[in-house]
Amino acid sequence: MSRQALSWGRLPAPEQRLIKLGSRFDALPTTTGSLLPYGLGRSYGDSCLNGGGALLGTRGLDRYIAFDRDSGVIEVEAGVSLGEIIELALPQGWFPAALPGTRFVTVGGAIANDVHGKNHHRAGSFGHQLLGFELLRSDGQVLHCSPTANAALFAATVGGLGLTGLIRRASLQLLRVPGPWIRGSSERFGSLAEFFALSAEAEAASAYTVAWIDSSATGANTGRGIFIRGNHAEGPASYAAPRGIRLPITPPLSLINPLTLAAFNALYYRRPAATARDALWHWQPFFHPLDAVLEWNRIYGPHGFYQYQCVVPMQDAETVIGEMLRRIAESKLGSFLVVLKTFGNMAARGMLSFPRPGATLAIDFPNRGAQTLALLDSLDAMTMAAGGAVYPAKDARMSAAAFRQYFPQWQAFAGHVDPRFSSSFWRRVTEYPQ
Ligand SMILES: Cc1cc2nc3c(=O)[nH]c(=O)nc-3n(C[C@H](O)[C@H](O)[C@H](O)COP(=O)(O)OP(=O)(O)OC[C@H]3O[C@@H](n4cnc5c(N)ncnc54)[C@H](O)[C@@H]3O)c2cc1C
Repeated sequence: MSRQALSWGRLPAPEQRLIKLGSRFDALPTTTGSLLPYGLGRSYGDSCLNGGGALLGTRGLDRYIAFDRDSGVIEVEAGVSLGEIIELALPQGWFPAALPGTRFVTVGGAIANDVHGKNHHRAGSFGHQLLGFELLRSDGQVLHCSPTANAALFAATVGGLGLTGLIRRASLQLLRVPGPWIRGSSERFGSLAEFFALSAEAEAASAYTVAWIDSSATGANTGRGIFIRGNHAEGPASYAAPRGIRLPITPPLSLINPLTLAAFNALYYRRPAATARDALWHWQPFFHPLDAVLEWNRIYGPHGFYQYQCVVPMQDAETVIGEMLRRIAESKLGSFLVVLKTFGNMAARGMLSFPRPGATLAIDFPNRGAQTLALLDSLDAMTMAAGGAVYPAKDARMSAAAFRQYFPQWQAFAGHVDPRFSSSFWRRVTEYPQ
């Protein structure tokens, strides 16, 4: 079976085949060419693409295997999404301990990018809640991996970008919560210095912290934004979840341009609802406001968009991120989706895991060709000089040299790559021919 698969940035995708797997007991296809697992395609660039080869569609691996409602340990096939886990587990008082900014993410994809949420300072990343998984290698071996069994392969596969084999099932430790509600506050801040002060103060008491940044602000307003914090809390017994709306068409041009951007950012920053002292959010709008608009990625038009997410060590974070924001505002090439958060000090479990201590900035850029790429290269130069890293899940263009600097364990990792597995990203950053 074949169909064209895209990544979330909707940049032009290479020719590749999508072979859908129906069960965790399926053998790997015997086709020629390389293989790469493909979950819900929520990676932005080419780390979930395999030009010239085949993608293994994992959404057919969609069974719940076991759930212990006393301990919160759940075992599922790797194509089950985090949203589906929440549907089953939340009514029993359990929630994923690390949840990214969309619920449309498979367990396999969450492991392979070692995804993080708004509570990294408290819970670390996805690998920290992972008790173990089963990996099918192309020589037919099925290996159980955990922090203590096949530990090196476990560390290579957490954040391992789908390159070490097919994860068929996984076991997770969920977090005990009182229900679907988050209680917290949101407040405006006027500068990056204020953001870092708020973050340091909020992290002691709040499980979740994150900020939206006005990327159009210049001069003394550079780095202003809205800071949000919250904790799981008791709330009303019932809630009617809003139905998702879908963008009816892909507009012929990006709807994000310098005029709409500056106006939107200013309005969003000043809107009365930006400040709320004692707010009660349902988990869906708190964690996943964008999920309410299905396929919102089409607003960037037919040329798609890039996301840039970097992490910068804390000692230089204010200076470096300030300089990045100044450059982005000058370029007028950014968008309104700009998120800033701090990562805690918990060491990641994966050899290629992106989360590490520091501050992480994520921003979408409509694809305007060479000028966008030049701006992203200049951001890379700043990230590299600061000893930071760029997130492969969000990347479509980092150089091989940058990758090797960001992920110094890449050579040890390469020793665990399955010989039949590859990706467009991996060939690009290891300089193999496409
Ligand atoms: C709106 C939005 C918000 C986001 N917010 C965050 C965030 O807050 N934090 C964060 O960390 N990320 C975030 N992301 C990125 C997203 O969480 C990751 O890209 C995630 O890995 C996507 O999962 P997926 O199931 O779509 O996998 P895909 O994108 O399809 O694949 C991701 C990787 O997983 C591998 N893979 C998939 N299934 C398997 C399997 N069964 N076995 C082995 N490898 C497998 C693939 O080969 C690929 O390398 C966000 C993405 C979007 C669109």
